[in-house]
Amino acid sequence: MIHNEKFEKMPRRELEQLQTERLQSTLNRVYRNVEFYRKKFDECKIDIEKITAIDDIKNLPFTTKEDLRNSYPYGMFAVPLRDIVRIHSSSGRTGKPIAIGYTRNDLKNWSEIVARLLVAAGITEHDFLQIAFDYSMFTGAFGIHYGAESLGASVIPSSSTRKIGDQIMIMRDYKTSALLSTPSYAIDIANNLKEMNIHPEELNLRLGIFGAEAWSEKIRATIEEKLHISAFNHYGINELVGPGTSGECSEKNGLHINEDHFIVEVIDPHSLEPVSPGGEGELVFTTITREGFPLIRYRTGDLSSLIDGPCDCGRTFVRMNRVAARTDDLIVIKGVNVFPAQIEEVLLRSEGVAPHFQIIIENEDGIDTMEILIEVSDSLFNDEIKRLMEMKSRMSKMLLTDIGITARITLVEQETFRKTSGGKPYVVIDRR
Ligand code: ZN
Repeated sequence: MIHNEKFEKMPRRELEQLQTERLQSTLNRVYRNVEFYRKKFDECKIDIEKITAIDDIKNLPFTTKEDLRNSYPYGMFAVPLRDIVRIHSSSGRTGKPIAIGYTRNDLKNWSEIVARLLVAAGITEHDFLQIAFDYSMFTGAFGIHYGAESLGASVIPSSSTRKIGDQIMIMRDYKTSALLSTPSYAIDIANNLKEMNIHPEELNLRLGIFGAEAWSEKIRATIEEKLHISAFNHYGINELVGPGTSGECSEKNGLHINEDHFIVEVIDPHSLEPVSPGGEGELVFTTITREGFPLIRYRTGDLSSLIDGPCDCGRTFVRMNRVAARTDDLIVIKGVNVFPAQIEEVLLRSEGVAPHFQIIIENEDGIDTMEILIEVSDSLFNDEIKRLMEMKSRMSKMLLTDIGITARITLVEQETFRKTSGGKPYVVIDRR
């Protein structure tokens, strides 16, 4: 099913014309209203009148997360504050946070693009959506919430801050048919169902749409098998709008980017040049409808690639492959490059492992060491020492053979990290 055929199936030539017009109007607005862009364009001697085709975007300067932090709180807003009706914030894990403003139109567009990804996964007005994202300054919960309401679906704003047991009771009693959360939270739910002796067939759950963290096809298979559902991927980051930048259709072969609202590029993060078509690199987005917080060539730090060509679903929007990792998540230890998502994939193959862990990297006498603290289920934790030791040694071996790293494993009780990790499945503490 397609929510908005006029745009989602727009012929490419027409779409490019629309993108060009929207880009030009965005450039005019940011040059007029945002001092940061006026200065930057002047410095780079950009004549915005000469940006007359999508390809010309390559001549414009990038915007980085650092630029947004330096403009905190309202330096990047392109409208007077009286026109801002909502403010969200992006992660302040390192340094200052970022404040993101929305006008009434921005909220309307946001609901529209979220509705598209929900419909693409098969959501209708008959569904009961349980939104288990944190209702807070982050965009995930509110973005999905209003998109779902605009479709007429029944929204259950259960949030992610309650106990998993309560979450499952709501799911069962309210007859939830679709779960919206992070993939690691879905695995948490699945593991706890087992502990609570509730069979997935006792629930009404038929699908899940997951995002807000990097995950893999293996994790998708795990979720589908454990919860007896169909699992879909979506992508969006706070700075751009929140959820809604892209989402999977029934083909589950790449995420369609809402190109009537965003222009996407893929660049080599080192040379900053475009990669060859289909090549992997850093995703760069330009917002072309945002009024409150427009961004020109925003470097996301997310690594992916694009899939060109028509999709069997009929949508004409380009697809992106799932984000495998973030450029700033990369850990280099003893010359080996490893992403936490790779470690997650190995650990989740062991029964009883909760999807939360902490990686601590230290330098002891000139040698880099890695310790991984892993949450395991309560029943496992009460097990005999011998079994726990066996489990630790099995995990160490898998990490070495599969991704070439040596790590000390420490098992900790369930829910040790949930409150401190900000909903993320893992935290990396680098003390080197
Ligand atoms: Zn498709």
